[in-house]
Amino acid sequence: MLLADSYGFCYGVKRVVDKLNELLDQHGNVYTYGQLIHNNQFTERMTQRGMKLINELSEIETLPKDAVVLTRAHGVLKDEMDSLQKSGRVIVDGTCPFVKAVHIKASVLENEGYTVLLIGDRNHPEVRSALSYMNDPIIVESPEDLNRPEIRDRLSQVKRLGVVMQTTQSADNVSQILKHLLDMSIDEIKLFNTRCNATEERQTAAQRLAHKVDVMLVIGGKHSANTRRLYQLCSAITRSYHIETKDDIHKEWFYREDGSPVERVGITAGASTPDWVIRDVVDYLNALQL
Ligand code: SF4
Repeated sequence: MLLADSYGFCYGVKRVVDKLNELLDQHGNVYTYGQLIHNNQFTERMTQRGMKLINELSEIETLPKDAVVLTRAHGVLKDEMDSLQKSGRVIVDGTCPFVKAVHIKASVLENEGYTVLLIGDRNHPEVRSALSYMNDPIIVESPEDLNRPEIRDRLSQVKRLGVVMQTTQSADNVSQILKHLLDMSIDEIKLFNTRCNATEERQTAAQRLAHKVDVMLVIGGKHSANTRRLYQLCSAITRSYHIETKDDIHKEWFYREDGSPVERVGITAGASTPDWVIRDVVDYLNALQL
């Protein structure tokens, strides 16, 4: 059995989960504003420890006056953060520092007089949060967006453009968009590279490992977008299975049609998969001597 070089919790998820554990130790009950991570096993375990979920801002008023509320690594909308802070409850900001860096760099650009262009998926919570901290930014998802009349018109009037990007953007999409921007008559373009390598590192490591093994197990929540992406990438290379826990494993996966055992099994896990879920799978495979 081989593990990918990079798998499981990224820095921002580990940070917010450590913070949750710390707060649960101190206070017993902790409210999270939105789901911290898309992983049912994590949610079950933490709920038993005292984690409670609130989804709507209006619920904050129903909480005890001394309630502790932790926000997600992806960040929340500025209006929401303002309301949370005004509520008088103890608000702990779980926003990942790399996500926060997008807000900070955009604000630096705005203060220096640049029109900000954000490259990212406009419906993603991280991007919605970042946009809420900016003044009238231009949002572009793909090079094709630059042909949309409203974006072309705006860009035709911009002399100084400041570019930031969603942390999980691929280098390829960013460079294609920049190539098109360079063809426009913009006097000055200032770029802050706000990408975070965690997603790409996990994907590259999973693909590398998939090339070396007969079967890949991709561990993570069925609703976790980054786990599903890992599964997709591995499936294109070798026989792969997306599992949530060791209980999803079928022993026959590790045998060929002629009954002989496969030689190598690889393991990777999404950025929201807790260590103990991964360990359970590793122990299970070790017990099977794989
Ligand atoms: Fe932070 Fe990167 Fe993890 Fe997103 S993927 S939470 S930016 S470390």
